[in-house]
Amino acid sequence: MEDYLVKALAYDGFVRAYAVSATKTVSEAQQRHDTWNTASAALGRAMVGSLLLGSTLKGDDKLTVKIQGNGPAGAIIIDSNGRGDVKGYIKNPHISLPLNGQGKLDVRGAVGDQGIFTVIKDLGLKEPFSGQTPIVSGELGEDFTYYLAVSEQIPSAVGLSVLVDTDDSIRTAGGFLLQIMPGADETVIDSIENRLQELPRVSSLLDEGKSPEEILTVLLNDTKVEVLEKMPVQFRCDCSKEKFATAIITLGADEIQEMMDEDHGAEAVCSFCGNKYHFDEQELAGLKKEAEA
Ligand SMILES: [Zn+2]
Repeated sequence: MEDYLVKALAYDGFVRAYAVSATKTVSEAQQRHDTWNTASAALGRAMVGSLLLGSTLKGDDKLTVKIQGNGPAGAIIIDSNGRGDVKGYIKNPHISLPLNGQGKLDVRGAVGDQGIFTVIKDLGLKEPFSGQTPIVSGELGEDFTYYLAVSEQIPSAVGLSVLVDTDDSIRTAGGFLLQIMPGADETVIDSIENRLQELPRVSSLLDEGKSPEEILTVLLNDTKVEVLEKMPVQFRCDCSKEKFATAIITLGADEIQEMMDEDHGAEAVCSFCGNKYHFDEQELAGLKKEAEA
């Protein structure tokens, strides 16, 4: 199944519902960063959450989610946009912890249960919007939910899940986001809350072969779900040799001369996708000239 996200309305328009299947997207990140199982689950959940949050934006608008917890995974940084592109970084990809009390990958153990959860949205305005909440769980679904409730004041429910196989590959990854619109009846909220208690994990539903549309139907207890849009999602990094060249120029002429003298070149590695860009001495000389100009 190809990765995609569906946007839908339910409960007569009082609930916005989003569901995504992102197995290939998270697999690509897992392979590019060589993440071990607990880190794969943490990075994957953060990516799925950011895709869901990003899908509430318009096409060219972008967002960055920064999760800075006190756990061994270190910072997790995800970029996403309104077109379903996502890329992610985890400081320590080689985290494999014992399973938690429920027999699940211990994402909280990797992320930590204290720290800061930040969302920066670039909506094409002069100033980016930025919201920040404390990490309240470390399991990440709850942290996205808390951020939406407190910082954006939208009562929401977020479910994020990644199933990692015994060989460390990603078996399934996906999630959902429900947002309750103002004026929704109390019974709608109760019905959704009760449903969430008994719902199996999205990764299990995906593993059974369910599509994002079917997941929404399961999630919303067979109420009428009106699908508005279907959007492909993918791992995509926008790095380029030109971008790294610009970054090298900002280091200044002296630093560039040092790279030429000591290493006779430079290699830049993108921390989001792992792509490498090589600059030979001649190219560095050109950049040095630009730095001096
Ligand atoms: Zn890149």
